[in-house]
Amino acid sequence: MKALIIGAGIGGMSAALALRACGYQTEVFESVKQIKSVGAAISIWPNGVKCLNALGLREEIKALAGNMAWMAYHDFATGNVLTRFSLSPLVERVGEYPSPVARAELQQMLINHYAAEDIRFGKRAIRVEQHSDGVRVSFDDGSQACGDFLIAADGTHSVIRDYVRGKPTERRYAGYVNWNGLVTIDKSVAPDDQWTTFVGEGKRVSLMPVGGNRFYFFFDVPLAKGLAEDRSSLKQDLRRYFSGWAEPVRKLIELIDPQTTNRVEIHDIEPFMEFVKGRVALLGDAAHSTTPDIGQGGCTAMEDAIVLASTLSSHSLGIEDALLRYQNRRNERAKDLILKARKRCDLTHARDPQLTADWYLELRSETGERVLEGMCQTIEGGPLG
Ligand code: FAD
Repeated sequence: MKALIIGAGIGGMSAALALRACGYQTEVFESVKQIKSVGAAISIWPNGVKCLNALGLREEIKALAGNMAWMAYHDFATGNVLTRFSLSPLVERVGEYPSPVARAELQQMLINHYAAEDIRFGKRAIRVEQHSDGVRVSFDDGSQACGDFLIAADGTHSVIRDYVRGKPTERRYAGYVNWNGLVTIDKSVAPDDQWTTFVGEGKRVSLMPVGGNRFYFFFDVPLAKGLAEDRSSLKQDLRRYFSGWAEPVRKLIELIDPQTTNRVEIHDIEPFMEFVKGRVALLGDAAHSTTPDIGQGGCTAMEDAIVLASTLSSHSLGIEDALLRYQNRRNERAKDLILKARKRCDLTHARDPQLTADWYLELRSETGERVLEGMCQTIEGGPLG
């Protein structure tokens, strides 16, 4: 049985590894000649880490991850701690560590584990066709490939999604811009073993330790879509948006390198339930694009890969039946996570300013219990518990 996998991102590579481990022949096609990850880093929550462990990558992921033992919120203006608590109860309950990692390193690790020479780079899929016993994909260089089934892991702008759904899918602007990057750890900005977040004015500034003595940082600001901002004005823009913020935030702005800082207008996609058409299945952001507000997009793609491989390898009524079972095991979970992230996005970015003001007040009496309960529920809803 041969699977064609479109896209060599987190989802596509996880699917390729999972399917190959179950004995499927796999061929991965990637549009770019060289992968350049969108975003500097990613927090892989324990549900995602468990999927990587299942793919045989336990030691590799450990080696890349930062030590995130604590979590804290600070007031934007004074810099004072609103709440600070240990993540140990979460780790003990779910049985795995949260693992923030540099994205390029995660991507390279997945590619190396699969074997880079087995990925066809520079192949942009433009069309898919299927018949009773196979699929054919056409690429923009005029070439084609055939297989028994196809996994479309071609990301949030997926072209194959239109084929599966039979209609175009719009991305929804979530109302804020996110700047993110990596910077050498400076303990006067934040502790090196803590996820630190400054909140106020519907904005946030966050730092997470990743391997290699670096912080993954991000700044969120509610803004109109399509502003003419770029690297040349990046520091001035951030200084303006965060004027009056506490010293560590102002210091962070001076430490960052505009050349390696990304500016992303955050979008998601209204959840939909149809991930499969015959022998073609969507996976990862192609199937469910979420705002990054609960850090679950990549983790969900890894979960998809594990469920896909287990469903295909444990059922005997044929590919189409198994793919439908995959869809039905994933679409409710994906919908829940998109809506949960959207809710958190709205609260964090002051879509309703009163609710956000109430949340800032609540943080002052937060012991960690409520926050950790929400995170544990999200994690435990994954396929590996
Ligand atoms: P992608 O990573 O987009 O990969 C798709 C691949 O397909 C790309 O390599 C692309 O070049 C290729 N491709 C596209 N079209 C074609 C085509 N026609 N033919 C061939 N190849 C094609 N998730 C988390 O779990 N934790 C986090 O902390 C987190 N933080 C985030 C922060 C930000 C700012 C953003 C924007 C997202 C964040 N996410 C996070 C979400 C996460 O990045 C995505 O969910 C994840 O990258 C999806 O992986 P994917 O493989 O489905 O898609």
